[in-house]
Amino acid sequence: MSPEVCPHCGADVPRNAKACRECGADEKTGWSESAHASNLNLPDEDFDYGNFVKAEFGAGGLKPAGLHWLWWLTAVILVVLFLIFCLH
Ligand SMILES: [Zn+2]
Repeated sequence: MSPEVCPHCGADVPRNAKACRECGADEKTGWSESAHASNLNLPDEDFDYGNFVKAEFGAGGLKPAGLHWLWWLTAVILVVLFLIFCLH
């Protein structure tokens, strides 16, 4: 039987799946043993960290760069508006 959540990467694993779609872990590579070790050592912390990473960087890294560019544009617009306001 496959676990509902991969103990290696925290990804959702379909019940009939023979291997994890994300990291490729399966019964042969011993995700059952890893699940026991993970439950004993790090019950929730490891799982939450995996979800956090996926939520933050799931877009492929394009979002932070776009956000950075947008902040620079906003800063320039604010400076220009401030200069125009002062000159009048
Ligand atoms: Zn996995």
